[in-house]
Formats: sequence, structure tokens, C-alpha cells
Amino acid sequence: MNLNDSLSDHVRVDAAHKKALKRLNIESINDLLYHLPARYEDISDVQSVGGLEKGQEAVVYGQLSGLKTRKAWKSKKPIAEGKVEDGSASIKIMWFNQPYIAKMYSDGMYVKLAGKVAGSEGKLYLSNPEVEPLDSLPIDRHDSIFKDTEQADDTLYPVYRETKGITSKWLYHTVLKCFERGALDSLIDPIPVSILQKYNLPELKTALVWVHSPKKAKDAEAARKRFAFEEVFYIQVQKALERAAVSAASTYHIQTSPEHIAEFTDRFPFPLTDSQDTAIEAIAKNFIDNHAMSRLLEGDVGSGKTAVAATTAYAVATSRPPEGLDKKIEYGNLQVAYMAPTEILAKQHFESFIEYFKHLPIQIGLITGSGCMKFPSKSDPNKPTKISKAQLLKWVKNGEVPILIGTHSLIYKSVEFKHLAYVIIDEQHRFGTNQRKKLAKKDERLPHLLSMTATPIPRTLALTIYGDLDITLLDQMPAGRKPIKTEVVGPGQTKAMYDHVLSELEAGRQAYVICPRIEEPDPDKQTALNMKSVIAEAKRLKKDVFQDWEIGVLHGKMTPAEKDAVMQDFNNHKIDVLCATSVVEVGVNVPNATNIIIEGAERFGLAQLHQLRGRVVRGTHQPYCFAVTESKSEKTKDRLKALATAKNGFELAEHDLQFRGSGELYGGKQSGLTDLGMEAIRNLKLVEAARNEARHLVEQSPDLAKDFPLIKERVNKIGEALHME
Ligand code: ADP
Ligand code: MG
Repeated sequence: MNLNDSLSDHVRVDAAHKKALKRLNIESINDLLYHLPARYEDISDVQSVGGLEKGQEAVVYGQLSGLKTRKAWKSKKPIAEGKVEDGSASIKIMWFNQPYIAKMYSDGMYVKLAGKVAGSEGKLYLSNPEVEPLDSLPIDRHDSIFKDTEQADDTLYPVYRETKGITSKWLYHTVLKCFERGALDSLIDPIPVSILQKYNLPELKTALVWVHSPKKAKDAEAARKRFAFEEVFYIQVQKALERAAVSAASTYHIQTSPEHIAEFTDRFPFPLTDSQDTAIEAIAKNFIDNHAMSRLLEGDVGSGKTAVAATTAYAVATSRPPEGLDKKIEYGNLQVAYMAPTEILAKQHFESFIEYFKHLPIQIGLITGSGCMKFPSKSDPNKPTKISKAQLLKWVKNGEVPILIGTHSLIYKSVEFKHLAYVIIDEQHRFGTNQRKKLAKKDERLPHLLSMTATPIPRTLALTIYGDLDITLLDQMPAGRKPIKTEVVGPGQTKAMYDHVLSELEAGRQAYVICPRIEEPDPDKQTALNMKSVIAEAKRLKKDVFQDWEIGVLHGKMTPAEKDAVMQDFNNHKIDVLCATSVVEVGVNVPNATNIIIEGAERFGLAQLHQLRGRVVRGTHQPYCFAVTESKSEKTKDRLKALATAKNGFELAEHDLQFRGSGELYGGKQSGLTDLGMEAIRNLKLVEAARNEARHLVEQSPDLAKDFPLIKERVNKIGEALHME
């Protein structure tokens, strides 16, 4: 048996299995062995139905049948009843005063039941058991397990992710069959022994046995740790390779210095924060180096990322191209591309940049789907003007416009630069080497890259997703900001909140109302639902709360032009209250909007809530956030209360990771990690170890394919998956 053999060469696979395996991405024996259990079911406390005795607290697995509701014949109280059958025998179940139970479950369902055995000999029944529905039974009902008392101590059964046509049980037995037939014999561990020993990880053969049929919970855990390490390690190797490739490519040398930069920043009406200083310095160092920069700048909304972007853009746009200065143009024309995720944001950056650059003879272009602009206008040096796309592209191509701001159209349309030396990406989760190469086009020099995000993600996840980037945090807020006042508003407490917001409107402020994002697997449906709730909520607010105020609506189904019009109206204070979905327009800047009401707050992660409320931490007025929840649970309220005390978004992101589970993390979906890998993200030591070892490996063995072909093979697979999106 060879690991790369097709599974169907060795086990009988019928048509239904075949389809299901395909859905699970299992083709070879190897794929099957790497389809790890999602969890384990401890069935040491499970009884066989046939052996139950009166008075016992019993846990049984079985299939439901005969569910119905009736009235007790004396008391007339409702009783739900049914039967559970586990292959050894069946027993009656009765739920008293819970008639709805019979409707909640259905005949044929697999369940785990925990309850007391009552009744009399020959007429035993399970009384009011708790029901846990299962996709399938973890064990074969006719398995020897019920007869085999020796195994009863530590009996862990793996439960696999299933799909229609394949049960967990089938997967388990097939894995065991492969083991029996020598699947592990020819196995070579791709991970060097030295690494395994250093971190005390089991080698591959042992790990596979432990993960699929553990004798002890500890073994399963050690094995999972190994596979988690392995997964993060391959991703880190992939990132380290990308990093090495970028670092080896030639780039633009940018002549800048602290004095040069101070010429620009000395004019700011505020002193830079220490973290802004540090960030600018780190970027400038990369500029002077002969390696293309790859850097992530992470900072809460309002922490001053745009100022960092503008300053470093200044350093580039005032540097000369290597071929010498084009005589016609006064300033050197190394170029900057600044990409924003939406038109509204692109426009806002354009406006901010005009503020920052208006004293300089540096032209700034704006390109979006709905038109192009240029600053300054020929007729008025203080104003931007509309120009045709063709004209703008011409000036970008010949280098006359050194700074171009825009949406995605910046990259994918017919935009050509003369000397693109610096790419700034705002709120873009992923921007690969390929896209970067595309931007560099015929020019073989890779531009420097600064990726900026206000999405607080835990350090471990950042190290993994952005393993190829250097990470800089802006973890300080500019001085003089009023910290936001956050309140958790429970059921029936909205009156005080609305009174407060009304008084704020009275005082001339504005407010956001964010409607919940309804979790729907279908993204189209999601927007449809969001839209509906936004529109309905706006109507309700107009009727019941903000009768005398102008209410606007913003959601993802509107066209960019419609959104733009609403945002303009909000910006110009024609709208007082903006009712919006959470999915649109992160980072919108309306300084006069100082109140935010977030409906359905419990549906969000804390980091997301933090990001949402960041929209009102903009001006000099006191900002307020109201996290509204319908939930009566104290736990939910406690969780939300962390919003009021946390120092910054990173703290909240760590909180989410520890208390909510990695699946709910922002950015987690894009990471390409499996559930196990995401689990590993909770473990900083493991992630750091994987990252260090990966970087070390790539440094030591530049020719990975030769020295570590097995690792290279796995890494290639990951690389393909990451670039496929
Ligand atoms: P971000 O892009 O991180 O959300 P911005 O760069 O847009 O933040 O800055 C938000 C606001 O704070 C802007 O109005 C900007 O002029 C101002 N600002 C930036 N840096 C500072 C600072 N060091 N001190 C005071 N205000 C600042
Ligand atoms: Mg910003």
C-alpha cells in the first residue's frame, strides 16, 4: 500500500462514497490519513441499553423512534415519549411536562441521551433525559465495544467531519483498515527529527495512530499539536519563501532622511505620536535599504495611519527616479499608488492628501469607477478638478502625476506607471506577491509595499496570515482624544439611550445606527436581510424616536453612486442619523458623528464592535457607543462590558480568541487555515516556534526542493490554495 495510491484501489468505495470523498477532498490514502477527527467522544461512561438497571444515571447512544405526545391519563399532564434503540436493545423514553420535545426531534435521529433509568423491572424507561442530536453514532451499534469491558476505561472514539454519503464511522473503520494493511510502513516524516525533538512532538507514524485511535486523551492531544505545528509550519515556510523572493528582487532606492521627512511633518498642526514616529522611521529605513519593503501597519481607526501614509508617500514622491530627472518636471517622479477598498474611502484619502500636500507642487490623481480627478486644478491651485480617465492615465504613465489614489481599478485596469516605487493598501486583507508583480509590470523593480489595517487581530493570527510581512503597530492614540464612553444596553433599557442621542442631536451632533449582521451562509441572502433590517429600522426610528430628524440609509445593495450621495449628505449634515449595515464602509470619517448605536451587539466579536465604534472617535467632541443586546444572559453582558475597559483593539482581539473561539475571528476565514490550524492560533509559543523554524529552514536551505522535497511539496499545495481565491 502506497500513500499516494488512490483510496479506491484498496477499499471498496461505492458511488455515494465516491462523491462524498470528493467533497471532503479525499482521494489518496494520504488524504484520508490527514482527514483528522474533529473531536473525540468519550464513551467510557456509555452503557448498552440492554444492560441498564433501575436507578442508574445512564448515558446511551442510539436511534430514536415512536416519538409522540399524549396526556397522562390521571393528571392529564402532557407527556412526550418515544424509544431509543442501540443495537443491543431498546428502552422507552418519557419526558414529563415537555410536550414540545416530541416535535423537536424526529424518528430515525441519532442521539446521545443522558438521564435516569426509572420504572420497574421489565418496564424500565429513561426519565427526562437530555438529548444531544448526533450526525451519526460514534460507534458501530453491533461493535464489540458493548461486550468488551476491558476497553471501558479510556475509550475515546474519533468523530470526523462528515458529509452526505459518508459517516464518521465509515471514515474511522477505513482508516483502521489502511493501518492494518501497512499504510504507515513506507511513511517518511517530512519534518526533520531535530525540530520534532526540540518541541517534543511525536513523529508522523505515531502521531497518525494517536490522532485516529488514541488510547489516551493525552496522546490524541500530543498528536493534534504535532499536526497543528505542521500546518502552521508549512504556511510559515510558504511565507518565508515569499519574503525571500521579494527581498531578493530589485527595488527602488529612495533617498530620504530624517531632515527630509521633517520638512513635511513639521507643518502638521499636531506632534506625531511616538508610534507614528517609530513607524515612519521603520519605513524610511526600508526605503533606504535595497530590499523591497513588505510591511503591515496595524492601528485602530483614528490612530493616524493616513498621516504615516502621507509622510512616507512624500518621501517617495519627492525622490528622483534612477534614470535621472525628466527636465520638464520640477520634482522627481517616483510614484505612489494608494489603494482603498471603496470609492468613498478613496475619495476621503484623496481629500486628506490634498490637505497634506496642498503647499507642494505635487500632483495627486484620483481614479474610481465613477470618474477621475486631479489636484491641483489648472484654474484654481487650491482645488481639485474632474478630468477624463484617458488624460489622467496619460499623466500617470509619463510620470507627471506622482501620487495616484483609487479603488481596485488602480490595479486591474489599464493603469501604467512610469516609476511605481511605493504601493499603499488600505484595509486590504491580502495582497499577494503576484498582484504586486502585476503592478510592477514591465519594470522589474518591485515597489515597496505598505499594507494598512484597522482590523485588530490577535498577534498569533497576524504572524500567520501576514507571516511574510514585518508588522508595525500604532498602539497609541493621538493626545487630546476623548476616550469613547461605551454602554451596554440590555432589554428594556433603550429609552435612556434614545434620550441621550436626542440631546446630542439637539446639540448639533450626528449619529450612526448599525443594524445587526445576520449570519447567513449565503452572502446574497445576507445582504438582502441586512438591507431589510436597515430599512425597517430606519422607518421605525423615524416613526417612534427621531421624528424631527433626518434619517438616511446605507447598505451594500446600493450602487456606489447612491452610497456616495448618502455619505455626502451625511458629511454635509443634511442627514442627522445614518442607519447602516455593518458590512459597508469601514473607516468612514465624519467627525461630527459622535454617537453610535449598535443593534444586536452580541452577534459581533468584540474586535468588530471596537472597529465599528471607531467611526465616532474622530472629532473633538465626546464620543458615545451603545451596544444594544436583546440577550438576557449575564455572560453576554459581561463579555460586552470588556468593551468599556479594554485599552485598544488588540486587547479585545485577544479576548475574542480566548473566549469565543478562533472560528469567529476576523480574518480567520481568509487565512487558509483548517479548524486545527485555527485552534493552534491560540498558542503563541507554537506559532512563534513554527515561524522561527520556517524562517531558519528557508535561510539554511535556499533550494528547498532539493534539500526538503517533502516539505516543498506540501508548501506548494498551500501556496496554490492561497493564491486560488
Ligand atoms: P486612521 O487612518 O488611522 O484612521 P487618520 O490618519 O485618518 O487615522 O487620523 C485621524 C485624524 O487624526 C485625522 O484628522 C488626523 O489629522 C488626526 N491625527 C493624525 N495623527 C495625529 C496626531 N499625532 N495628533 C493629533 N491628531 C492626529
Ligand atoms: Mg484611515
